[in-house]
Amino acid sequence: MSLATVNPATGQTLDTYPLMTPAEVDAALDRAAAAAAALRRTTFAQRAGWLTAAADLLDAETAAVAATVTTEMGKPVTAARAEVAKCAAACRYYAAHAEEFLADAPLADPGQVGAARAWVRYEPLGPVLAVMPWNFPLWQVLRFAAPALMAGNPGVLKHASNVPRTARYLGKLFTRAGFPAGSFGPLWVAADTVADVIADPRIAAVTLTGSEGAGRSVGGAAGRALKKVVLELGGSDPFLVLPSADLDRAVDVAVTARCQNNGQSCIAAKRFVVHSAVYPRFVEAFTARMAALRVGDPMEEDTQVGPLATESGRAEVAAQVDDARAHGAQVRCGGTVPDRPGWWYPPTVVTGLTPAMRMWREEVFGPVAGVYEVDSLDAALALADDTPFGLGAAVWTRDEDEAARCVRELTAGAVFVNGMTTSYPALPFGGVRHSGHGRELAAVGIREFCNAKTVWQA
Ligand code: NAP
Repeated sequence: MSLATVNPATGQTLDTYPLMTPAEVDAALDRAAAAAAALRRTTFAQRAGWLTAAADLLDAETAAVAATVTTEMGKPVTAARAEVAKCAAACRYYAAHAEEFLADAPLADPGQVGAARAWVRYEPLGPVLAVMPWNFPLWQVLRFAAPALMAGNPGVLKHASNVPRTARYLGKLFTRAGFPAGSFGPLWVAADTVADVIADPRIAAVTLTGSEGAGRSVGGAAGRALKKVVLELGGSDPFLVLPSADLDRAVDVAVTARCQNNGQSCIAAKRFVVHSAVYPRFVEAFTARMAALRVGDPMEEDTQVGPLATESGRAEVAAQVDDARAHGAQVRCGGTVPDRPGWWYPPTVVTGLTPAMRMWREEVFGPVAGVYEVDSLDAALALADDTPFGLGAAVWTRDEDEAARCVRELTAGAVFVNGMTTSYPALPFGGVRHSGHGRELAAVGIREFCNAKTVWQA
């Protein structure tokens, strides 16, 4: 078996890479273990210098890296460049803040535990296996790697099998920037051998960004090996539009939130739950805007939506829409696979969904919006919550009480009011229920892979 770069805009295979032999995997894990020992002897200032150098490399190499990403997974090249910039910013953020996040935390009143001094210190756990997806093939990796390296944890990257060029770039980035050899390297293995790597004693912990199915496998393997795991899984985020919403703004953001990254984002708005007072106007404006998006060559500067990343992903999206149509839903725009090479699927709006349809319950990983009509806030909240997931949620209202109730009652890792659900290095990111557990980013993210060691001194 090998890994391959297939251009999703054409369906053409550009190159293939062999998997590592067991001896090569062994050597890669040895390098990570050696790097763990080396990193423990480095200072925050040294690591911050190297991480800043990695940010500088990303900035300097933006055009080439963005072209690689677009060629491998099809996102518009403008979005790929924005992804590179976001990665560089995250490196700089953790270079500036890691020491403060991991500073010793003294107990203000050590007498209450009978000590002269008591405090918590944060120590690295050791090499972390990162199993990563293709949809933001730089950002998903960097948002793990930047805090992990600042905490002193090496990373071993098992990237998605369709983005090997990006994986190769990332596998060299941090050592090029000055980190000790082995601090962050690629592991060219197939998904079905990940459990063996997790069980290896040289691996201390594991983080996965990916689907629910991968989450069950990786979480299960981590459980059997008694290792810490962070799971960033799928979502079917609700986007609530209530009567007092700024409708023009809500429609603008709804289109971007559904179709950015060609509709393949975990925190994309996927279910649009709209109050009947504004439903007809929302559906009309939203459908017109979705249908008008410029779909085309993702290397072109003005393209807004490119192809889906994989043939199987496109088949899944098409099957979900076909299932809804067959059960009586209305497809307002899009909804058919175009007759051209590559894995294209048009921006699509579906209404009239019922619980009998796959789209009601499943994540749709493509530019397909389900729009639901509700007649009250109670009904909106109930429908929003009728999902196995709990990643993000957005609510559009000018009524403060309504907004506050949504913030309290929506089951999600994040609620955005009158804005687009996204991630920022300074805010924790993650989900609940089948969207996973644990958090990335901010202070809570860097501490996930640390031993919070209690020190008590008489
Ligand atoms: P995926 O098929 O789960 O793949 C993600 C990674 O997991 C890949 O490296 C894949 O390797 C590996 N993998 C798959 N099955 C595995 C298994 N049984 N054991 C061990 N590793 C396994 O997901 P995807 O299709 O690339 O990404 C889409 C999914 O990721 C969506 O559900 C999306 O919502 C979710 N996602 C979540 C977040 C978040 O932050 N919560 C962010 C982005 C994406 P191979 O490529 O070799 O199969």
